[in-house]
Amino acid sequence: MTVYPSEIHQYTYCPRLYFFTLNLGRERSLRERLRLLLGTLFHIVKSIPDRLSGMRVEEVNEATLGGVRLRGRPDSYSIEEGKLRVVERKSGKSPRRGAWISDVLQATAYTLILSRGSVRDAVLEIHYRDGVRIVRVNEDLVGSLVDVIDEIVLVKKYGIVPAALRSERKCSRCAFRDICYSIDDYEIDGELYEPGAWLGSKRIV
Ligand code: SF4
Repeated sequence: MTVYPSEIHQYTYCPRLYFFTLNLGRERSLRERLRLLLGTLFHIVKSIPDRLSGMRVEEVNEATLGGVRLRGRPDSYSIEEGKLRVVERKSGKSPRRGAWISDVLQATAYTLILSRGSVRDAVLEIHYRDGVRIVRVNEDLVGSLVDVIDEIVLVKKYGIVPAALRSERKCSRCAFRDICYSIDDYEIDGELYEPGAWLGSKRIV
């Protein structure tokens, strides 16, 4: 099975939204298509300094991790003297402190893909429109990433409905809001294990 860092981003943002997008799909609205186009232009313009400084830009790479193929295209990266530097650009704003965990785990996935032989240290640079956040990859982050990948495999393979990470900001503009809330109207006896529920307490790194 192949898992893409963009899936890791969406699952971490809201596991239930990832499930709906995977299984129900839908046409992008004109607004979303315009945002996508602007996002592409934003990435092209912002990557120019990286290209000039000799970084690798938008290269497809892959690696296998416990039977799962991770495949993705980091915005930019470099490997120098055993230090891996991954740049991830986001057109949105940063949180007040730190970085959004969905962005951090997406970039951490690139470090797993790119960490070969000589790499001893990995640093993420998350570029938001209002500033840059630097995050050093550690065991906790890799552990969270592995948990997310395991859960994505569960959801893809067995169709398990994962947790809804609700917030007014996210849910008010979600195309699947009605169906999402109607699922939670069902009463289920006993303890219910929902993959992804643990992400609710880890919004920021
Ligand atoms: S309504 Fe909210 S919780 Fe439900 S899928 Fe959409 S973003 Fe996630």
